[in-house]
Amino acid sequence: MQRFQYYIDGEFLDGEARFQSIDPATGDVWAEMPEAREADVDRAVDAAEKALYAAPWAKMTATQRGKLLYRLSDLVAANAQKLAELETRDTGKIIRETSAQIAYVADYYRYYAGIADKIEGSYLPIDKPDMDVWLRREPVGVVAMVVPWNSQLFLSAVKIGPALAAGCTMVVKASEDGPAPSLEFARLVHEAGFPAGVVNIITGFGPSCGAALGRHPKVAHIAFTGGPETARHVIRNSAENLASTSLELGGKSPFIVFADADLESAANAQVAGIFAATGQSCVAGSRLIVEASVKEAFLSILKRKAEAIRIGSPLDMATEVGPLATRRQQDHVAALVETSIRSGARLITGGQKPDGVGYYFPPTILDCDGVNSPSLAEEFFGPVLSVVSFETEAEALRLANDTRYGLASGVFTQNLTRAHRLMKGIRAGVVWVNTYRAVSPIAPFGGFGLSGHGREGGLVAALDYTRTKTIWLRTSDDPIPDPFVMR
Ligand code: NAD
Repeated sequence: MQRFQYYIDGEFLDGEARFQSIDPATGDVWAEMPEAREADVDRAVDAAEKALYAAPWAKMTATQRGKLLYRLSDLVAANAQKLAELETRDTGKIIRETSAQIAYVADYYRYYAGIADKIEGSYLPIDKPDMDVWLRREPVGVVAMVVPWNSQLFLSAVKIGPALAAGCTMVVKASEDGPAPSLEFARLVHEAGFPAGVVNIITGFGPSCGAALGRHPKVAHIAFTGGPETARHVIRNSAENLASTSLELGGKSPFIVFADADLESAANAQVAGIFAATGQSCVAGSRLIVEASVKEAFLSILKRKAEAIRIGSPLDMATEVGPLATRRQQDHVAALVETSIRSGARLITGGQKPDGVGYYFPPTILDCDGVNSPSLAEEFFGPVLSVVSFETEAEALRLANDTRYGLASGVFTQNLTRAHRLMKGIRAGVVWVNTYRAVSPIAPFGGFGLSGHGREGGLVAALDYTRTKTIWLRTSDDPIPDPFVMR
């Protein structure tokens, strides 16, 4: 059995408590993880605070920080396959996806390496004589980063990269479900040469470790990715330390297909949008909103594609859909499908947990036209597509916005003016037109409503890890005049 350690203050430690990690493809225990408890969280946050205000990190130039980030990027690229195999083993995400995604994670660190010495302050044209006024941009402080199990190296890179560029120090809490790749990534942080305490990586259970971290008095900002219910706990805990938050939460993203779209291309995007990552993707295009005149044609293409998907071992490069990450997730998906069918949704394909080992669930399509199905409102976080149809563009937009989430959306049409109207009308942080599930370090990403607030990616994310300080310098040698008049 493999044993992992956590990383605090530049040291790899076993931790007093440990827990077992399960391979979702078999249901068997395959590794043992260190469980961080409150005392470990204290140690990690203390180390991060000490590193924040002391040399070498506090004295390092932004260019030097950038060089460390370049080194980290190279190490991630060189170790991508190993990290990918660990993520696949520990979370069930197929190797085809993890190997491509982690190779791209290196580009995120490279992007933020370049950003480090481009975070500028400013000089203000102040409305008073003999006064120079600047805004300095300083690191926001110690950041608590709480990430889920899915795409964890990607979801931590969009936090760690900009935070390091900005000069912050941090404690990253990997999910208790499948933390192996994050703990292994700590070895690359160490090898890259970041000073002790700058990046600390732990894992542990949400209500104990995650909560202790989020409410810690020395934490200035919490960057959280996970579900909306957990986010409410995070916000409640932040009432203790009054830390700022950025929340990347779930979604029930609309995928709109008009009759004039290239249906074959749209179907490929829809398959990527809902069945890739076994549907365990925050941006899953889980609500298909299709023009009534092409509904049957589009569904028959989708059904054919869904039934041709190769389901199998996530470690096999030929596999297209692997297991869900946990039994809890498999049970949740199966129960929600069952309730939806009971509420009147018609099963087009899939729908049944297969027999045998592992937490598998087949690609599933539910026709929800004319039905008030819970599958249209609730996030499955699994390979289940719910379908409704529309007659007019206004109805398509109304259905798209009929959600409290607002993370992503897709529009498929050849009509340029309509595409522009929908881009403006859809209430979501990302609109993809004639494409889906495209991401880049250069493009900010984040949600509206129950999908959270704050943005990851792009320059804006690095600025979010800074706070401004206003400096006033009086340039006159004359004595200060009347002390009772504010100037
Ligand atoms: P989750 O909310 O259960 O857990 C996320 C993290 O929060 C884990 O590390 C967990 O240990 C921690 N946690 C749990 N309780 C906590 C508490 N009381 N205080 C502090 N931390 C706590 O989410 P999950 O099941 O691991 O992931 C699935 C969810 O994440 C889905 O809703 C999905 O849509 C969302 N997600 C969003 C994005 C995005 O970028 N918007 C990306 C991926 C996943």
